[in-house]
Amino acid sequence: MRRKILLNYILILIISSFLTGYIAYYTIKVNHLQSKEEKYVSNLKLIESSILENKDSTFNFFRMAQVFSDLTSSRVTFISSEGYPVADSDNNSIIFDDMSSSQGIENALKGESKIYNEFSREMGKNYYYYSSLLRINDSNSIIIRIGETIDSTDRLIDNFLLYLMTAILASLLIASILSFITVENLVRPLRKLTMTSKLVAAGDFSQLVDIDSDDEIGELTASFNTMTQELNNYVSSINEVERMRKDFVANISHELRTPLTSILGFVETLRLEYLDYDTKNKSLNIIETESIRLREMINKLLILSKVESMRDEKVLSELDIKKIISEVLDVLSQKIIEKEITVHVKYESMEYSVKSDEGLIKLILINLIENSIKYNFTNGQIWVIVQEDNKSIRIIVKDTGVGIPEDKLDKVFERFYRVDSSRSITNGSGLGLAITKHVVSGLGGTIEVESSQGKGTVFSVIFPKDYS
Ligand code: ADP
Repeated sequence: MRRKILLNYILILIISSFLTGYIAYYTIKVNHLQSKEEKYVSNLKLIESSILENKDSTFNFFRMAQVFSDLTSSRVTFISSEGYPVADSDNNSIIFDDMSSSQGIENALKGESKIYNEFSREMGKNYYYYSSLLRINDSNSIIIRIGETIDSTDRLIDNFLLYLMTAILASLLIASILSFITVENLVRPLRKLTMTSKLVAAGDFSQLVDIDSDDEIGELTASFNTMTQELNNYVSSINEVERMRKDFVANISHELRTPLTSILGFVETLRLEYLDYDTKNKSLNIIETESIRLREMINKLLILSKVESMRDEKVLSELDIKKIISEVLDVLSQKIIEKEITVHVKYESMEYSVKSDEGLIKLILINLIENSIKYNFTNGQIWVIVQEDNKSIRIIVKDTGVGIPEDKLDKVFERFYRVDSSRSITNGSGLGLAITKHVVSGLGGTIEVESSQGKGTVFSVIFPKDYS
């Protein structure tokens, strides 16, 4: 491409400079000759009129040639109509030469006078001449030739083309070097872009191209870099999703296998015939607990897969948060009563309407309040506090339960994570908070946790009032 641009560039330069040069040369030359011719014609008129005034006297052409030459500061020659020189102001030895072969004299005889250039053998120089035929009377006519040696101006003009061509060649050389540099500057970033795009096509997204200009190419490079970064992010997120999917499948298999293994172990124990009542009963209890845990886990997995597929199908409507909270507490009332827990609900203001997905908000609250019952002590307390401003709503679920150790706080939102899986209080799946976090961020919100071990835990969910 560089060669193509360069060649076109130079070709245009050559054509345009030669054309301009030639037109300039031609115009100057024509003008110069024209003004010379005008001068010769007016001098000639002068000579002709003074000859015609004295046409009755005898002519002394030698003397006349001299006088007119002084008068017009040019070479004056009189030539007979047969083409023989009669008198010449500069050289009298030519008078016997035959001049009829001269094109200028021939034209003068035909009455077609014009300026012409001829080499003068007798003077050994080039001359510009103008010759014209003058009829003195019916029987006598004479050719008057007026001329000048080619002077420095004439030579300058004749050589103008040569000087011009030299100048053009020199400027072409400079222009070629400059255009080479320009084209090189233009092409270098494009070459870099091509190289990098090949790397990108081969899957290497780490390469960015330096932006060293703020023109269109700079813009192109910037967009290219953005595109590469986007691609990089996209590919990383696909890899991340793929990694998470693999982890998830591995986790599920592991989590499901643990209770199943324990169930199968105790079933084996029950097969033994000499078992006493206590051992039998204990084995059956464990089988029951583990089966409930399995059911719980499968239920939560179903919810998770439903939530994932609902990602783009939220049903937005105006919500009555008070009604939602009281319905959730109704659903959980059995568990609340069993553990003799006191629930306080507090609305710090309820002026603004909330537009969100009712089903998903309920899911969040059920998970959080259910945990605050599950991980609470008998006779414990729970607060559900709703705070709001005109943009967002914050629902706080606070309990007086066992709490979460500080170093485990980050992990509670991970799938299958349980702070103490051997804790007998719970038959949890480790999926509830993972689902909650997922749903909260699906509604454009965030979830935070604070806890103090042995004293209680606070979960806060903040989401926008209007998620549309
Ligand atoms: P699980 O089904 O085990 O309850 P979650 O995802 O709901 O799963 O919670 C993960 C872990 O976080 C729980 O196992 C528990 O250890 C801890 N946790 C959640 N909520 C509370 C809470 N209110 N108080 C104390 N610990 C909690």
